[in-house]
Parts: sequence; C-alpha cells; structure tokens
Amino acid sequence: LVFTVFIPSLCIYSFLNPFHHPHSSSFLSALHFHFLPSLRHQKWEEISVMDERNTPMRTYQVCNVMEANQNNWLRTRHISREGAQRVYIEIKFTLRDCNSLPGVPGTCKETFNMYYYESNNANLWFIKESQYVKIDTIAADESFTQVDVGDRVMKLNTEVRDISNLSKKGFYLAFQDLGACIALVSVRVFYKKCPLTVLNLAQFPDTITGGDTALVEVHGVCVNASEEFEPPKMYCSADGGWLVPIGRCVCKPGFEENKDICQPCRPGTYKASATDAYCTKCPPHSSSPQEQAVECICEKGYYRADTDPRSMACTRPPSAPENPITTVNETCVTLEWSPPRDTGGRGDITYSLHCRKCSGDGRKCAPCGSSIHFVPRQFGLASATVLVTDLQPDSNYSFTIESQNGVSDLSPTPRGSVVINVTTSQTVSVVLKERRSKDSVTLAWQGPERPNGVIVEYEVIYYEKNQREQNYTVLKTRSNMMTVDGLKPGTTYVFRVRARTDGGYGSYGGEIELETSHEGCGLILHCGYIKAKQDPDEEKMQFQHVKLPGSRTYIHPHTYEDPNQAVRDFAKEIDASNIRIERVIGAGEFGEVCSGRLRVQGKREIYVAIKSLKAGYSDTQRRDFLSEASIMGQFDHPNIIRLEGVVTKCKPVMIITEFMENGSLDTFLKKHDGQFTVIQLVGMLRGIASGMKYLSDMSYVHRDLAARNILVNSNLVCKVSDFGLSRVLEDDPEAAYTTRGGKIPIRWTAPEAIAYRKFTSASDVWSYGIVMWEVISYGERPYWEMSNQDVIKAIDEGYRLPAPMDCPVVLHQLMPKFGQIVTILDKLIRNPASLRELANSSAWSDAPTPDFSVSTVDEWLEAIKMGQYKENFSSAGYVSLDSVLYISVSELAKMGVNLAGHQKKILSSVQSLQTQGTHVQV
Ligand code: AMP
Repeated sequence: LVFTVFIPSLCIYSFLNPFHHPHSSSFLSALHFHFLPSLRHQKWEEISVMDERNTPMRTYQVCNVMEANQNNWLRTRHISREGAQRVYIEIKFTLRDCNSLPGVPGTCKETFNMYYYESNNANLWFIKESQYVKIDTIAADESFTQVDVGDRVMKLNTEVRDISNLSKKGFYLAFQDLGACIALVSVRVFYKKCPLTVLNLAQFPDTITGGDTALVEVHGVCVNASEEFEPPKMYCSADGGWLVPIGRCVCKPGFEENKDICQPCRPGTYKASATDAYCTKCPPHSSSPQEQAVECICEKGYYRADTDPRSMACTRPPSAPENPITTVNETCVTLEWSPPRDTGGRGDITYSLHCRKCSGDGRKCAPCGSSIHFVPRQFGLASATVLVTDLQPDSNYSFTIESQNGVSDLSPTPRGSVVINVTTSQTVSVVLKERRSKDSVTLAWQGPERPNGVIVEYEVIYYEKNQREQNYTVLKTRSNMMTVDGLKPGTTYVFRVRARTDGGYGSYGGEIELETSHEGCGLILHCGYIKAKQDPDEEKMQFQHVKLPGSRTYIHPHTYEDPNQAVRDFAKEIDASNIRIERVIGAGEFGEVCSGRLRVQGKREIYVAIKSLKAGYSDTQRRDFLSEASIMGQFDHPNIIRLEGVVTKCKPVMIITEFMENGSLDTFLKKHDGQFTVIQLVGMLRGIASGMKYLSDMSYVHRDLAARNILVNSNLVCKVSDFGLSRVLEDDPEAAYTTRGGKIPIRWTAPEAIAYRKFTSASDVWSYGIVMWEVISYGERPYWEMSNQDVIKAIDEGYRLPAPMDCPVVLHQLMPKFGQIVTILDKLIRNPASLRELANSSAWSDAPTPDFSVSTVDEWLEAIKMGQYKENFSSAGYVSLDSVLYISVSELAKMGVNLAGHQKKILSSVQSLQTQGTHVQV
C-alpha cells in the first residue's frame, strides 16, 4: 500500500471535507457524520495521507488483496435527514487496479458496495448485515495506473448516488469491502432546496425538495404594500428548481411596482386601483400633496362626480344658458337657447325649466302648476330646446332655463340660469249668450280684449258631442253672434270660437256644450215611486243639520235606530231632473261611478261625480251605500271630498259629490311620474294632512287612508275620500284577511291595528306616513312586491320603508325623535316668552296679529270683511282657495261684485294669496 501513511486512530473524526457539489446550482447542505466501529471494522484502518496540494488529510483504507473470502464493513453514525425525502451521497475514493499489484491472486476485487439502513434510533450499536438496503456497487472510473508512489499523487474518483423516499428520522450508511484495495477520502451527504425567491411580487420561502419525482406546491406571500391579484403559486422540483409560476400580487392603490417591491406614489401622482400598473400624474385641476395618494384632490371650485373615473380631470358647473328666444303659437311656446359658454369641462350638460305665471303688469308671479306640459320634458333636457304646451291664452309667463352638469349638485354656488318672458295669444272670451230651441242654438261672444291685430272674422266650429271631433262643421262670421240651425233635437253639441286677425288665427276659446231641446218629455232618469210633494221648509230644516255650528264631533250612522234618518239629517235630497250623467269614470263597490253636471236652482251648473247603487240591491246594501253619504255629509273641509247630496226618491239611488278631474292620487302620480316640483308634492301632502287633521278633530278614524283613496282635482288639490262603512271590509282590493279575522289593508295599517284592531287617529297617522312615501315616490307600491306576511314580519322586526329617491330629508324626518323633542323643550325653557301663547285661547283675541291663516273661500272672504259675497263665490263655482287665485275683474263683475272698491279689495287680497299662501293681510 504505497501511499499509505499511518496516523493515530484518535483522528478518526476529522477526515471529512465539506465542499460544494459542482453540478447543482442549488444550495447544498452538508451533513456531519462520523464513522463508528462495526463488527468487521478491524480490517478498515484510519490513515493520514497528503492530498494534491500536500495538505494532510485522513482516509479510511482497506487492502487485504492477498487473502480470499474478505467481508469487511465500515459504517457511519446515525445521520439525521432533517426533513428531506431525497438525500444525495457523494463519495471520493481511490481504488487499486488488481493488475498493478504484483503477485495478487484472482480473488482480488476492484469494486465495493454501499448500503443504508433507515432508523429512528440514533444510537444503534449493532445492525445486522441482512438489514441493510443496497444502494449500489461502486467501481472506479479513474485509471489506477496514474497513481504513482514516487509522486505521492492520488487520483480521486468521485461518485454520487441518492436514496429517496426517506421517512424515518435518519439513516446509517455502510461500505462493504469484498477484497479490494480502497482508500475512502470523503463522504458528503446532502439534500437540495429551492432557494427563497421573489417572483411577481410574491415571496416564496426556502423549500426542501420532495421525494422521487414529486413536485412540492408552494404558496407565495405578497410582499409589503401588495395584495393578491390571483393567488401566487409555484412548484419546487426534485432538483431544487422553481417551476410553473401561477398567479401574482399587485401593488395596493397608492403604490407602484419597482423591481421586487412596491413603493409609494410620489406627490403629484396617484394610483387608484391595485390593478393599475404605475402611478400616474394627477389629472387637470387636481393635486396630491402627500405621497402614496390613491386619488388626487380637486382644486377649489372644481369637483368630481361619483361616477367620474379618478383619471378624469376635475370639473365645475356650467355657466348659464345664453340667448334664449321664444316662438309663440297660440297657447304653445317653443323655447330655444344657446349652450353655456363654459361647459365646466364636461359633456353632460342638461337643462331644467321652471315656469311662473305672472300678473298683467308682470310684477306678481306664481308657479304654473301641473296643467302645462313640456315636450320632451321639463327636467334633465339634453337638447337646448323645448316645447311648452297647454298654456293659458293671453297670459304672461316667465320661464327660467337652468343649466347643470354632473357636478352641479356638488357645488354650493347657485345654478347658472337665464330668464325669458312670454305672452301667449288671446282667445275669444267666454260665450255670453245662448239660446236653444229644438233644432238651433244661438251663441254670442266677446272678442279678445287686446287683439294682436285687426279682427277680420270669427270662426265657429261645432260637432255632435258623442261623435267627438271626427265630423265637425266650420262656420264664419264677422259679427259677435251666430245662430246655428239644422241641429238634431235633444242632442248635445260642442262649440268653439276663435278670432282671425290680420296677424293670423288666435287660439280657440274653451269648449261650450249645449243641448238642443227635447222633442217630447224624455227624462234622463227614471223616477219611480215619488212621495207626496215635500214641504220646502222641511227640506230646508233638514239641511240645516248639516252645518250645525259647533257640532264638531262625528256621529256614527249606526247610532241611529233608523239609518234613513241619518241620511236625512246629513245629506241633502237632490231632484234627479237636475242631474245630467255624462260618462262612466270608474267602478265602485255598489255600482258605476259617473261624471256629470248638477244644476241647482239659482246657481251655476257644477261638475259632479255620481255614484249609483246598482239594481237588485238588498236593504243592507242600500243602507251601507248611503252610510257613506251620511258620514261625508258631516264634513265640511277643503281637503275632504264634498257631498252635494243624494238621490233616494228615484232609482237608481245616487250619491252626488264634487267632481275631482284628476281621479285617484295613486293613478295620477304614476301617470305623471317625476313631473312635479317638490313644492307641489309637499303641497299635496299638506292638503291631505290638513283633511286628516280635520277628521281627527272630529274624532273620525278613517282606517283606510291610502293614495288610492285620495282624489285630486284640476288644481292639484287633494281630498280625502272613501268613507263607506263597509269599505275596509269589502271595497278595498288591498285589504287582506288577517289571522284574527277581518280584512285589513296590511301595507297601510299600523302594527297595533293589524295585531288587535286598535284603529285610532294615531294609526291613521301611520297610514299617512305610508301615503307620504307613496306621494314622494310617485305612486310606487309600498314595500314593493313583498308579500303581506313578509311586510308584517319585517315591520315587527323594526324594518321601515326607506326614504324614496329624491326625498327631502326634512320630510323623511317629519316624525320627531325624542332627542329632538328634548331640544325643542329646552329651547322653550330658555325662551319663556315663547310659552305665553296658549293653545286653547283664540287667535282672534290676540288682536295685534295683523294676519292669520285661512283655508276656505268663506273664511277668506270673512277675513277681508267681504263676507257678503260668500254666496256669489260659491254659486260661481269658486269653492276652494286655489280656484280664486287667478280671478279677474270681469269675472268679479259677472258674479255680481260691482263696486269698484270691493273689486279692488278682493283682487289685492288675491295677490297676497298668490305670494304668501294662505296668510291673509287683514
Ligand atoms: P270609489 O267607489 O269611491 O272607490 O270610486 C271608484 C273610482 O271612481 C275611484 O277610484 C275614482 O277613480 C272614481 N271617483 C270616485 N269619486 C270621484 C270623484 N268625486 N271625482 C272623480 N272621480 C271619482
């Protein structure tokens, strides 16, 4: 053994030289281990030699080539596997070529075997040879002959083997010599790792590779200031390489990617979304003074609408529309204007119009109301033109055209607007005279007071009423009067008159309906059994019951033994021949509802609604039908539907009430969705509340207050209706049976009324709240399509209808909270003077107040000391305060107010009504 150097056996532990594996870029972990004596160790020897650089090193050697039957074992201490499933073993050794040894027998070997044994026990003293698992037979690949004794040069062989799928704590390695000449120089045991790395902003930790072929799935963690876009994942392969990256992290808003980190956006830049790649410069009219901005702040006076992208420049409201012009065509006006000079930087300019009707001198103006129409619409117009229709002829209007864009609502400055005034053309005044015969009608009229030219002629058109306009006749005349003959007897005709001036046609005056006389008698209504003629005084006395002064409590018709007496006490009997039925307008519980006219002796014809009781009724039905009249007849308030009277002596039995042109409120609102100003809506609510206050003052509980039971007239005045006794039970299609029996309109009814039928004015207030919601949402169904059961459950659990779209917050908060009540009481305590006025002392006795509130025409006339004309006003059909708002001198004269001083007094009070509402200067 030429290169063998003997060293003391104490140095046995130090012969291993860790070094890097030359073929793997992975990090290598060396395992320190030590050889232990085995049973056959005696033949292996620990020897010091010099390496190529003359550095001493230790080897294990065996070289018993001269003797046959060798079996020499050398094994290591326990080697912990540290979690690795696959471990690599690199050995460096020299092996003598048998031929190079002179005189060795044929038993000489040139290989040795390598084994391992897995075990959790780190202190095994003895392992049976048969327990080892063979790793491989190792042969040398270096040429042995190069080993020169004289040069002291060793040629080393290096071999690497691996063992995989390790599962115990560690293992022992063993080397078996069967008669070769071996020097074992180093044994290195290592496993491979995929190294810590950052990819797509996700950090993947140091990962030990898996077993045989398995890839290890590793989830990455987003680096600072980043968030997962798609969960980051990679696979660590068996040889320590990262494979198949999936997913990524992205920098949070306010940060951008730079190499493998997220850094804050610099001042003046921003990043709104994590998915944006980089910070970008603030858009015009905005800035970001701090770093890490997720959006830029608008400069003063500039705004960003909710729906504006953050990358869009900040913008401002537009300037006013310009150069408005009008084109009048009879009672229609086309308004056109130029767009604002400054669009504020936006493309979403729209226009809204506000109309006011003004007095002759143009000094007093009031909102136009809902009778006029804007085509295509009044609010949110995209184009700079609109057609206004249904204006009144010969009237002054003032239109305000407002411009707005997506940020107008954000700016505290008032909207840019321009005002333009218009006067509509005149119509022929009301027909003054009429004379009718069987086949002719004579009309006379007044020309326009201030025609816009010389009147050339008048044009009269007429047609048979039930044929509508299909078949009309046009007649012309230069005079102010015309007799139309050749008409059918007993037939209603519609007439209209317009003037032609040298400037063209004016607009038609209102429709005049006239009926030619009947040939025979032909009553419209069949009066069956008629009692002996009534004493006129008796009738008068009966009717006095209706408006007994001071009778402030409602009397339930059931308190009468004879229900007919209640009808006689509270409703006036009307002679059927004074009623003219015109058309069907609805269906009631007991029969049709029609519109028509009622002529009362000494008064003008008025429009009425006529409810009739269908044939074949029972006594109970008749009583229930008429109970509505005996209830309604007890009320006298501008916001309660007024009873004109009943027909009980003829058939069919009828109830006659004032006519409400716009029908029920729910349908009306749905039809005009979004078309009213908030003031108009609140005006309606005010009216309903005022009517309900009156009813509760009378101790009447309505039980079925809902928009469908409110009627609306042509002046938008809302009146409470539907007073029948059976109505809640039978009439209302909304009413549903409750578990306790009885039908209740669940959505409108207070919980205590649903639960135990506790109907009070307080439960009417609840229903009123629902009506408010219906009104502000233009007839939306309360609780939408929720089922009744779900509504009851939700209300029990504390759910309440949310504020409808565009609901003014003060309306939504109308019901005071206790906190507010406390604040109000505190204020009163701090200001004791405010407590001096007592609720039950009359406002009249506190004389110094110069004005007070009125709610009926009669109260108003009394207040301005013109009470003597009450009858004149009501006969002329001025029954509500709204109806007197536009009264003229000529109309006053016509109704018999002839004194100039009185006319002046009334007209000046009308003007104050227009501007101050129902507060009247006395
Ligand atoms: P009622 O039986 O009271 O519910 O009436 C049925 C329908 O007739 C209502 O929904 C209204 O559309 C219509 N109607 C009832 N009374 C009047 C009235 N005074 N003026 C106009 N329409 C009415």
